[in-house]
Amino acid sequence: MPKTKFIVFTGGVLSGLGKGVASASVGGLLSSNYKVIPIKCDGYLNVDPGTMNPVEHGEVFVLDDGAEVDMDFGHYERFIGVTCKSEWNLTMGKVFDCVRKKERRGDYLGKTVQYIPHVTDMIKDWWKKVAKKENADIVLIEIGGTIGDIENELYVEAARQLKDDVGCKNVMYAHLTYIPVPHGVNEQKSKPTQQSVNLLRQRGISPDLIIGRCEELLTDKIKEKIATFCNVKKEAVISGVDVDNVYKIPMTFEDEGVEKILNKRLKIKTKPLSRKWRTLVKNMDEAKKQVNIAICGKYTKLEDSYASVVEALGHSAAHLNCKMNISFVETSSKQDLSKALKDVDGVIVPGGFGSRGVEGKINIIRYCRENNIPFLGICYGMQLAVAEFSRNVCGLKDANSTEINPKTKHPVIDILPEQKEVIEKGGTMRLGAYPALLKKGSKIYQLYKSEKVFERHRHRYEVNPVYHKILEKNGLLLVGMSPNNRLAEFIEFKYHKYFVGCQGHPELKSSLLKPAPLFYGLVKSACEGKK
Ligand code: GLN
Repeated sequence: MPKTKFIVFTGGVLSGLGKGVASASVGGLLSSNYKVIPIKCDGYLNVDPGTMNPVEHGEVFVLDDGAEVDMDFGHYERFIGVTCKSEWNLTMGKVFDCVRKKERRGDYLGKTVQYIPHVTDMIKDWWKKVAKKENADIVLIEIGGTIGDIENELYVEAARQLKDDVGCKNVMYAHLTYIPVPHGVNEQKSKPTQQSVNLLRQRGISPDLIIGRCEELLTDKIKEKIATFCNVKKEAVISGVDVDNVYKIPMTFEDEGVEKILNKRLKIKTKPLSRKWRTLVKNMDEAKKQVNIAICGKYTKLEDSYASVVEALGHSAAHLNCKMNISFVETSSKQDLSKALKDVDGVIVPGGFGSRGVEGKINIIRYCRENNIPFLGICYGMQLAVAEFSRNVCGLKDANSTEINPKTKHPVIDILPEQKEVIEKGGTMRLGAYPALLKKGSKIYQLYKSEKVFERHRHRYEVNPVYHKILEKNGLLLVGMSPNNRLAEFIEFKYHKYFVGCQGHPELKSSLLKPAPLFYGLVKSACEGKK
C-alpha cells in the first residue's frame, strides 16, 4: 500500500460512550491485514495523565517505553495487538509545550504565533510523523471528548484540514453517537445524532461512518432516518449495541458489516476476525464453572481505576473455560474478613499509593497467607505482602514501607536510591518495561516458561535489599531479580499454593489472545481450589 490511510474517530452527544473501545475494535478488525497505529488526542493541558487521580481519570496506563498514557491505550494494545509508544498519545499539554519551545527557539521568527495555522500544523505534522516513522498502513486518530467541546476544537480543525493534505481517498471520518430509547416512548430516537452530526458538519467534517451506541440493535427505520438527515448511505450507519463483554464489539461490528464501509471508502481489503477470538468470547459466555476473585483496594468505587486488572482476569478465565465473577473489597473501612472473603476463591491486591486503606490490605494479605487462599500482589500489593510477612512471619514488629511510616524500625520497603533526589512529580517514577531474571524451578518460572521476562513498572519504592536474606530464610522467595541482582521483581511464598507478588504490573500486557502468566496462575489456582 503506497500511502498511509487515516481514520479519524470523534464522539458525539455524551462522553463515556466507549469511543476508545469502538476505535480499538475497528483497529482490531483492520489489524489482521494491515499495520494499524492508534493515536489518541486528549484536550487537557496536563502533559500526560500520570499526575491525575485515577478516580477522576481512570487507570493510568503505562507503556513499554515508560510513557504514562490514557487508559484507552489498554484497549488499543489488547484489541489491535500493537505495543504502543509515547508519541502516540497527544495532549494539549504536549502540543502547547512544543509550540512554545519552537517559538522561543525562533522557529516562527517575525510571525504572530496563532492557533491556525501554527497549532493545527503542529498537530498534523505530529500525526504524519508517527505514520511515517512507523510505516503505518492505517493510522487511527481518536479525538477525545464530545464534539463541541472547546478543548478539542484544534484537533477537530486539524482533522478537517488533513483531508486536503493527504487526499480524500486516504482519510475517513467515523462518528460515535448515542441513540436513546426513552422509557415510555420505547422507540429509538435519532435527534441527538442529527444534532451532533450537525456540530461536526459546522466544523467542515462529514462523517463517512456513524456508529450508534444503543441498548438494542438499530432498526432499519432508524438507520434510514439517520442516513437521510446526516447525508450518509444507510449501510454506513451501524449499531454499537450495548454488550456485557467488550470483546464482543469487534464481532458485532463485523456482523453489522463495518468492513464493507472501510473497504469501499479506503480501498482496502480486510480479513475476518480470527476464529480463536470468537471461541474465547464464547468460552466467557458459556462456561459452566464459576470463579470468584476479589480485588481489594481503596478506589473500588470506581472500577475504571483497576480496568486492566479486571480485563486481565477475564482473559485468563476465557482460557481456563470458567466464568469470572469479580468483587471489589474496599480496604479503607474496617470489616470482618471471613465475611468479606467468604465465597472468594482468589484475591488481588493491586497497585496503589499513600497510606489510606493500607492496614486493611495487610490484614487481607495475612488472611490469604494463613488460609492458603490464592493471592496475587501487584506492585503496592507485593510491597505490602512483604511488610505483612516481615511483621507476622519474620517477627520484625512494626515493619513497614517508608512511604507509609518514614520512621519505622524495619523499613522493609524503602525508596529507590535514584528516587531520593527527585522533586518533580510528572513522569519521574521508575517507569516502563524492565527485565527480570527468573529462577528456574519457581512457580513463576513455570508460568512464564522463560528466564528473562519483562513487565511494566510504575513505582518509587522497592524491597529493601537489607532484608532480602531474612525474607528468603523464612520462605518468601525472591524468584525474580533485576539483572544486577538488586531489585526483587517477583516473589513467591514457598509454603502456599499460590502466594505471588510482582513489582511490575503484569495486567498491562495481558490480552484476550495472550493472558498474563501471573493472572493465569492465580485464576488456575483459584479454580482448582474449588474442586
Ligand atoms: N506506592 C508504591 C511505590 O511507589 C507502589 C506503586 C504502585 O503500586 N504502582 O513504589
